[in-house]
Amino acid sequence: MDLSSPTECLLSMCEQQFALEDYQGGVPRWCTGCGDNAILAAVQRLCRDEALRPERTVFVSGIGCSSRFPHYMKTYGFHGIHGRALPVAEGVKMSRPELTVFVNTGDGDCCSIGAAHWIHAIRYNMDLTVFLHDNQVYGLTKKQASPTSPQGTRTNTTPGGSYLAALNPLSVTLGVQNVSFVAQAVDWIPELLYDIVKAAYRHKGLSFVRILQRCPEWLPDAWEPWMQDPNRVQVLHHADGLQPSAALSKIYRNQREHDPLDLDAAREIAGHVDAIPVGILYRDPSVPCYEQTRGGERIVTPERTRAGLNAELDKYTVWPEVK
Ligand code: SF4
Ligand code: MG
Repeated sequence: MDLSSPTECLLSMCEQQFALEDYQGGVPRWCTGCGDNAILAAVQRLCRDEALRPERTVFVSGIGCSSRFPHYMKTYGFHGIHGRALPVAEGVKMSRPELTVFVNTGDGDCCSIGAAHWIHAIRYNMDLTVFLHDNQVYGLTKKQASPTSPQGTRTNTTPGGSYLAALNPLSVTLGVQNVSFVAQAVDWIPELLYDIVKAAYRHKGLSFVRILQRCPEWLPDAWEPWMQDPNRVQVLHHADGLQPSAALSKIYRNQREHDPLDLDAAREIAGHVDAIPVGILYRDPSVPCYEQTRGGERIVTPERTRAGLNAELDKYTVWPEVK
């Protein structure tokens, strides 16, 4: 911790404890039963348990239902531009590397208009935690097909059923150079959702978590077959990955041991659809973050900014003539 300022010294003297209320912002306007509520609960719990200082935590989002997330966190936040959550978050992280930066983005926001930013954010591997709220539809604009809508999905733009096979965000992410963390969660298993969100936060580098999210308003039956049959969820476990509790393992018996360092196996698992894989597909902590690659001395700090401004202003100084 930087103790150079009096404020930091004072804060460091008292070991801070936080309650959930310290992170709870406005009352969510999401529909009843919307999976975004479960994701918000898991993230607020994470912030409390990890004692994240609200004034040093930032949530950045794009546009869409899930992108209302920063309004519901009592931290700093930026409800941004459609598809541009990732570059905004990268700018925040480059300017203030000491901040904890989260990104909330939807399937339309990330995988359609924001797809180019998504690919390059994975490649840059900055220390960000990214949650893809994937409900397979544009929810805010009232039911249009998104890139992750399964083929045949009836929406307002595809009344006869969508024509194209769905894009798989896990496979795409696992195909990009410098990928360092990929996981999948479902909003209806809170224990695993929390464990995955925590593992993502603790990873140093860009953590990409696809969360299958219910949208009861527009696609109420989308996940029903998987919710009704626990065997259609495959829990990935490993000594270096998730270790589900005994109680959870009694319900979710379909489990597979998977080493998160095995990229080939992760790519194979990413394609499974009959049983949804839930857990950490890939994690490689040795991939360098962009912040390190670029060199810490080039990162903007208040001191560097002040020195730069002074140097600029000195150009216009009229010095008294020396006789
Ligand atoms: Fe959630 Fe769907 Fe309602 Fe949007 S429209 S708040 S995604 S349930
Ligand atoms: Mg969506």
